[in-house]
Amino acid sequence: MRVVFLGTGGSLPSPKRNVTAVAVQLGSDVILFDCGEGTQRQFMFSSASFMKVSAIFISHLHGDHFLGLPALIQSMSFNGREKQLRVFGPPGMSSTMRSILGLGYFTSGFEVVTSDLEDGDVVREAEYAVKVVAVEHTVPSLGFVLEGTSRPGRFNLEKAKELGVPSGPLFGALQEGRTIEIDGRMISPSMVLGPPRRGLKFAISGDTRPSQRFEEAAHCSDVLVHESTVTSDLIVDAREYGHTTARQAAELARNAKVRSLYLYHISSRYDDPQPLLDEARAVFPATYVAEDLMSFDVNGADIEDTEGRSE
Ligand SMILES: [Zn+2]
Ligand SMILES: [Zn+2]
Repeated sequence: MRVVFLGTGGSLPSPKRNVTAVAVQLGSDVILFDCGEGTQRQFMFSSASFMKVSAIFISHLHGDHFLGLPALIQSMSFNGREKQLRVFGPPGMSSTMRSILGLGYFTSGFEVVTSDLEDGDVVREAEYAVKVVAVEHTVPSLGFVLEGTSRPGRFNLEKAKELGVPSGPLFGALQEGRTIEIDGRMISPSMVLGPPRRGLKFAISGDTRPSQRFEEAAHCSDVLVHESTVTSDLIVDAREYGHTTARQAAELARNAKVRSLYLYHISSRYDDPQPLLDEARAVFPATYVAEDLMSFDVNGADIEDTEGRSE
């Protein structure tokens, strides 16, 4: 799993931050969370391709989260996309998409299938599932928790050697779940593989006040991307406008026992995000401030020993 931050600013773009969009690459699939204006151009500066986007999840219908859709769809069409695109969002997403597709002189060269989601929905694909959580903003707004499907258990090399399995294609066959035969003996995958390993878990809050429901859904995520519009001195404004302070995001991350927290949806008032980082790290040390075009791999190998997971 690779996470690519395309836009990390809140409400309006600034010279340092475009408005919200975060891509998650799973194999050759790209899943996009929110699509603020200019997202298709941000893709061009990044390691991810907008032509590989298979699904887009929109958290809510404030402009900084969806106004990039018409331009992204038109750019995909100009680039010859034929594959269907699925767009998911809060109630009103489908009617908004009808307006988007009717803008100006444009006919999409591919089909856009739009679905309105609500709390508790789960979008299932072969490689992952996305759980939908209603969060607490000034308008209907959704947080999303993506979980990869479970992976085969760890391959026990010593055990395989003991059983006389020669290294090479037969190792691969066992790892793919096939039983093999060696000198008349049947060797099944369960003899050399550990218990199945869970898939990676990625949670993204959208715009919200601290949400208990989202905290529960994000439990033990490998990566939590949480909005952190302002610092604690502006907590009254944060509450009024349906946002979270950096400290509150860190408290949520700590309570949810996540592995790492990335703050995004940073207000354009912060030319330097250090105050946000400082107050969050005082509560939850594994905190980072997301920057535009920052990307990183979430490595499955280093989560073998993660303890305390209950999902
Ligand atoms: Zn916003
Ligand atoms: Zn909003």
